[in-house]
Amino acid sequence: MNLSSRLAEVAQQLPHKEAYVYEGERCTYGELNAAVSKFASGLRHLGIQKGDHIALLLGNSPYFVIGLYGALRAGATVIPINPIYTPDEIGYILNNGDVKAVIGLDLLVPLFVKMEARLPKVEHVIVCETPQGKEQGVSLTKKMKSFTEVLAAGDIHFQGPELAEGDVAVILYTSGTTGKPKGAMLTHRNLYSNAQDTANYLKINGEDRVIAALPMFHVFCLTVALNAPLMNGGTVLIVPKFSPAKIFQLTREEKATIFAGVPTMYNFLYQYEEGKAEDLQTLRLCISGGASMPVALLKNFEQKFKVIVSEGYGLSEASPVTCFNPLDRPRKPGSIGTSIMNVENKVVNEFGEEVPVGEVGELIVRGPNVMKGYYNMPEETAHTIRDGWLYTGDLAKMDEEGYFYIVDRKKDMIIVGGYNVYPREVEEVLYSHPDVVEAAVIGVPDPNFGEAVKCFIVSRNPNLTEEQLMSYCRERLAKYKVPSSIEFLQELPKNTTGKILRRALKDQLTAAEA
Ligand code: AMP
Repeated sequence: MNLSSRLAEVAQQLPHKEAYVYEGERCTYGELNAAVSKFASGLRHLGIQKGDHIALLLGNSPYFVIGLYGALRAGATVIPINPIYTPDEIGYILNNGDVKAVIGLDLLVPLFVKMEARLPKVEHVIVCETPQGKEQGVSLTKKMKSFTEVLAAGDIHFQGPELAEGDVAVILYTSGTTGKPKGAMLTHRNLYSNAQDTANYLKINGEDRVIAALPMFHVFCLTVALNAPLMNGGTVLIVPKFSPAKIFQLTREEKATIFAGVPTMYNFLYQYEEGKAEDLQTLRLCISGGASMPVALLKNFEQKFKVIVSEGYGLSEASPVTCFNPLDRPRKPGSIGTSIMNVENKVVNEFGEEVPVGEVGELIVRGPNVMKGYYNMPEETAHTIRDGWLYTGDLAKMDEEGYFYIVDRKKDMIIVGGYNVYPREVEEVLYSHPDVVEAAVIGVPDPNFGEAVKCFIVSRNPNLTEEQLMSYCRERLAKYKVPSSIEFLQELPKNTTGKILRRALKDQLTAAEA
């Protein structure tokens, strides 16, 4: 039960079948499997051993696919990281995650050079060439090797070490309420079972051509648009950067059958004036997840493009999928659907007892997809997994037919265009500004991105401007985490123990708009 040996099996059965298409370049299962073996063997030559941690700092590309499967075949644990993170964010994960080797874009070479002293555990940097990087003429240091070089040094027949189901395959950094990211450890069994259970539920098979436009470093894309089709002999249509024009063109030219996206993407596709139903006529299914899909958008989209949209739900800690709207029973707009096979979902009160149908409580999950725990954080793990159940932190209710509805997030996470923003993390940056006395961050509805980051500030300097504070944030946070509006207040609402009440700010805002 592991992804890399499943790939080898599919390659043996269907060597000439297309595994992926990337910007017109086609790769068969036979070729992909050979590249994966060579890369895994190349990693071994570098000294990578079973259990070593390898970070991927890559966008959607063949490098990601070969890097991921190659590292897994070498027995390593992969840590995918968003390459647009700031140096501080990247440095934190590389150190916290005990990363020994990094596979990253050549455009990041200057950053690695600058950070070298701060990353004593990183022994190797494997650099992936891009046309822009080539143009800029980046030169590699002693610690660095090119991806092509590592691949070329490898042995096509390399099989890799024995892997156990409980070995950690991937660590996904996801922020919690503490603001600092935690590494959710997903085992080979977690990833394999969730990709296969999702594939069975959504009937993803060898005939499917799945568009991978979501970022592959995010678990939604990883499981649904990459692993699920590859395990079943389907074809992955890799999109390096999402744009509506690209999706319509690719679907038409490559006869895509499945598109997976977050609601923001569906909104962009729906609004795209040149988008025609004929372009999407080969699509049999659109999959939505990551954030709640507005019912109006779902209905409008289905009507305009004559394609089924199935909303599901998941979280990094569950590899990620727990629920989806079924294909052979009614879909219910506004609902995240029913439990996928082998996964149990339950709504509980604060004592962990199941609440009656229709009542709101916390959604908890059990199954082979639930993570092993957070890396080096036993207390956080014990808090999140209790009696074998994963506490999601999401508030939900269930109807009499077993369909679940997400009501709100227990944790105050904000989702901007599918990316998670944790208020506390933004607040930490704001608090580090010398003029800021108090800060609170909340999510507000945004027509394009689902939500936007809004912050409230008490400043000691009356001349501090919104723009100054925003540029301060821009230097320290990934773009999507930067507040889109800042409001200056005399004081912030607090409870009796002095804790700032984000909820009250949200309510005040809603009341003012009403
Ligand atoms: P992540 O760990 O990045 O996958 O984020 C997981 C979180 O995204 C969940 O805990 C939910 O808060 C949110 N989420 C995912 N899917 C949905 C959905 N269909 N509706 C509402 N929230 C969702």
